[in-house]
Amino acid sequence: MCGVFGIRASDRDVARLTYFALYALQHRGQESAGIAVTDGRHIQAVRELGLVSQVFDESTLETLEGVAAVGHARYSTTGSSRWQNAQPVIRHRPGRTLSLAHNGNLTNTTELRDELEGRGLKFESTSDTEVIAALICEHDGPLVDGVKEAMSRIVGAFAAIVMDEEQLIGFRDPDGIRPLVLGDLDGHPVLASETCALDIVGATFVRDIEPGEIVVLTDRGVESILAAEPHQPALCVFEFIYFARPDSKLDGLHLHRTRELMGERLADEAPVEADIVIPVPDSGAPAAQGFARRSGIPYVDGLVKNRYVGRTFIQPDQAMRENGIKLKFNPMPDVLAGQRVIVVDDSIVRGTTTRKIVEMLRGAGALEVHLRISSPPVISPCFYGIDMATKDEMIAANQSVEEIRQHLGADSLAYLSLEGLEAATGHGDDRYCRACLTGRYPTVVPIAADKERFEATQLPVA
Ligand code: SF4
Repeated sequence: MCGVFGIRASDRDVARLTYFALYALQHRGQESAGIAVTDGRHIQAVRELGLVSQVFDESTLETLEGVAAVGHARYSTTGSSRWQNAQPVIRHRPGRTLSLAHNGNLTNTTELRDELEGRGLKFESTSDTEVIAALICEHDGPLVDGVKEAMSRIVGAFAAIVMDEEQLIGFRDPDGIRPLVLGDLDGHPVLASETCALDIVGATFVRDIEPGEIVVLTDRGVESILAAEPHQPALCVFEFIYFARPDSKLDGLHLHRTRELMGERLADEAPVEADIVIPVPDSGAPAAQGFARRSGIPYVDGLVKNRYVGRTFIQPDQAMRENGIKLKFNPMPDVLAGQRVIVVDDSIVRGTTTRKIVEMLRGAGALEVHLRISSPPVISPCFYGIDMATKDEMIAANQSVEEIRQHLGADSLAYLSLEGLEAATGHGDDRYCRACLTGRYPTVVPIAADKERFEATQLPVA
C-alpha cells in the first residue's frame, strides 16, 4: 500500500498541508512517515519510523519551510521496517538532490539494482523505491526526462511523486495498478493516493492520473505527458474491497457505496436465516450495511474496535498480528447472547483474525455464527505492493470453502463470487487487477518473491 502526497503552492504552508494529508492517508501505511520540502534551492526532509502523529510535531513542521512538498506514509512490502527504508527517499548527486515517494512494488528490482550496483552506485536501503530514485537521479538533464527514462526501465506497480530542488512530478505505471489523483487547492496543483487526502486539505478533485502518465506540477498549473503507452488498465480491485478509505472516490466510484453493493450482492448469493448482521469493524461495515438492507435482517454493532491499534493486516509479522487481534476487538455479550449472527468481513487471507473473531462471538453467547465475505477467496500472492502473505499461508489457496469453514469454526461460510464483485464495481479483468483472486497477473511477475529480494525467474503473463 503506502500513501503519497505532493503539493506545489508557494504561498501556503506546504509541510503542514502535507502533514494533514498524510494523516488522512494513515490507513495506507503505519510503519513510517516522512515529508520533504524544497524552497527552490535546497531540499530538507524529516522521515522516521512511526505514525504521522508520532513523527511530526509543531516544531518539526516549523523547520520544513518551502514552496513544494512530498509526503509518504509507509507500509513495507519490499524492504524491511527500518529507518533507511522510510520515505520520501532522498538521493544525491553533484548538483542535484531528489526526493521520491512511491506507492507500489516493482517486479524487476533485482535486475535493476544488480545493474546499478555493477556501475558503482551505492544504496542505503533495501527498498525498490531507491532503485527508481537512482535511475532518475543518474539521468543527465531535466527531471522529467529522468522520469521518462526510469519509466522505460521499471516494471510493476508505481504511483509515485518525485521532487528535485525546482520541480515536482507525479507518474503512474502503464497498468495503473495503484491509484493517484490530481486535485486543486485554490489554483495550486495537488497529488494524492486518495481523494480523502484532498478533502482534508480543502482541495477539490480534478481527475485520476492516467496509466502511463507523467504530470509536471508548476505554479501555472499542470503539464501532462503520456510517457508510456497505457496497457489494459489494471487498477487494484482490493482498493475497492478493503484498502482505500470508504469516503474516497476511485475510478469514478464512491467506495462506501461500492462496498454496500458488494454486501447486497452477497445477500442475494448467500442468504441465511439469522437474527442480526454485524460487521467486522471498520472495514466490513459498508458491506454489512448492504447485506442487512438487502436481507431485511437488522444491522447492529456486535464488536467494538479499539481504534488506536493499527490494522492487523498491515502488521509485518505473525507474532504482532496475533497480539494485534486481541488488542483490537471486544465483543458485546448484551448484543450477541442468544442470537444467530451473520458476520460480514471484507476478506480472509490467512484466517487467523477470522478464527479468533468466531471464537470471541461464541464466547459472548452467539448461538450461530455465519460468515459472509464481501470478496472472492484470496488464492494468489500480490506482487504489486500488498503484503498479503505467500500462497502457502493463504487459507483459500489450499483448502475448499467447507474446509475453511471447519477451520474457522463457523456454522456457515460464503464468499462473494467474481461475478458479484464485477457487478458491484462495474468491471472485471478488463479494467481491474484481480490477480490475487484469479491468479491472472496483468504483468510479468517473479516466480517467487520475499520482502528482501525477488528471484529473477519469471512467470509468463496470464
Ligand atoms: S494482486 Fe490483488 S492486491 Fe495485488 S494489485 Fe492485484 S488485485 Fe490488488
